[in-house]
Amino acid sequence: MKVVNLLAVVEAEKCKGCRTCERVCPVLAIKVVNRKAVVDAARCRGCAACEQRCPDYAITMAKRDEPVVVAVSTEGLDYAQVVDLCRRARLHPEQIVCYCTATRAEEVAAAILRGARSPEEVSFMTGARTGCKVECIQPILRLLEAAGVTPAPPKGGWQWYGRTPTVWEIPEGVKQKYTGRGFYFDEDIKLLNRVIEAPLQGGSDS
Ligand code: SF4
Ligand code: SF4
Repeated sequence: MKVVNLLAVVEAEKCKGCRTCERVCPVLAIKVVNRKAVVDAARCRGCAACEQRCPDYAITMAKRDEPVVVAVSTEGLDYAQVVDLCRRARLHPEQIVCYCTATRAEEVAAAILRGARSPEEVSFMTGARTGCKVECIQPILRLLEAAGVTPAPPKGGWQWYGRTPTVWEIPEGVKQKYTGRGFYFDEDIKLLNRVIEAPLQGGSDS
């Protein structure tokens, strides 16, 4: 969930049409048309990635007249499906997956169950991954994968580079090699499984 207070604004005279902003936008809200960047105000989630990376300082972040609340509710969904999707992605439903926006795994799962099929759609619907953009991409990819979706990076995008392996996927040979050298793979898995399966604080399986 995010309250979007800012909007990217392009100064057309300064824009050289290099497309850097287009590539870094996590919700694909900025496009270069006729060699000038154009922002889709309804899509912009105010993350400032484009402003920070524009080499010609052509973008500024302006305060919106009215804040826009971006959130996906689990209401109306079968909550058991939300829980199942989170746990198949090896996440606790109430675990925060985007610290910048405090978005929980259950909200991302709800976005996917409501039709999101890419990280960009998840970000557009929930606001997740419109802050630092560092921590949240992996859980989002894991949730999409658990739902049977394997998205490819957007054409020319620079935002992410595929899913990294989790502790559950470390091959036995690697585990054997490093166990006893300060790595505790099986113990970590046991502990993480307990976290994932912990009763919900506000939910239906507590
Ligand atoms: S990064 Fe800056 S110069 Fe490049 S297209 Fe975007 S606004 Fe224009
Ligand atoms: S969402 Fe972020 S990167 Fe995209 S247009 Fe808005 S401020 Fe720029």
